[in-house]
Amino acid sequence: MTRTPHLPHINGDWPELLPGWVWLVGAGPGDPGLMTLHALNALAQADVIVYDALVDARILEWARPGAAVEFAGKRGGKPSPRQRDISLRLIELARAGQRVLRLKGGDPFIFGRGGEEAQALVQAGVPLRIVPGITAGVAALAYAGIPATHRAVNQAVTFFTGHDASGEAPGALDWAALAKSSPVLVGYMAIKTLPSISARLIAAGRSADEPVAIIADATLPTMRVLETTLGRAVEDLAASGLEPPAILCIGRVVRMRRALDWIGQMAGEPPRDLDPLGLDPARDAG
Ligand code: SAH
Repeated sequence: MTRTPHLPHINGDWPELLPGWVWLVGAGPGDPGLMTLHALNALAQADVIVYDALVDARILEWARPGAAVEFAGKRGGKPSPRQRDISLRLIELARAGQRVLRLKGGDPFIFGRGGEEAQALVQAGVPLRIVPGITAGVAALAYAGIPATHRAVNQAVTFFTGHDASGEAPGALDWAALAKSSPVLVGYMAIKTLPSISARLIAAGRSADEPVAIIADATLPTMRVLETTLGRAVEDLAASGLEPPAILCIGRVVRMRRALDWIGQMAGEPPRDLDPLGLDPARDAG
């Protein structure tokens, strides 16, 4: 255990990143303030940081002076290192006695292939620690003022990916089951395949009038939010010019943004509706 120079005012001992170890760490969705203290502690100690495309540059500024920083980004549609090469590189660095930080966007185990990297490390006998991060699907909704669950709307929320290894809308996904799974669906990597996603969900019974939000660059100063409906989402997205990375949120909770768009409110916009779901919480004693 170690005291890290980056956390001088926080009591307690912090885990020490030892030579030959790999820590697989979630960096959160972008805003550096959404990193965990374990992630900060890892940055303070690592000899080598192998980071993803969606890790914000400001986060890397917290690296220990002299640390090596390697990009191992994977972005849909662009040339990127093969997953196997990334895993082999991590193993190679660990075997060379480096203290390795594998820094991934959001949470490493949510659509981040962290499971595969961790498995490769374990198979190679490399010791590891896994540090979760705030996943984009959770953070994007919070920054947009959309509760992921609301007692009046949903008792479940479903995360899904909008494309599979081939880059298409996942053929392995049971779209009818997804449509029925929960009143709120949160889609990652769902922008390119939105035409197919919205058509399949409507065909499976979701209403074309259902509220939809598309949140791009969530938690970053460049964040933009499009409010639309399932039926109009493709057209409105094209007109908006929003680009990935973006989170797709489908469900009636999206309406709550009319009251809870706190970023808009900080910029001086009044709430559009104080009771978007027609609930009047003042009358609810429960
Ligand atoms: N492991 C990551 C997800 C990696 S998949 C996590 O837990 O967040 C990459 C997808 O994540 C993107 O296509 C997009 O859907 C989403 N994403 C990541 N960062 C984002 C951000 N700042 N704003 C919006 N979406 C983001």
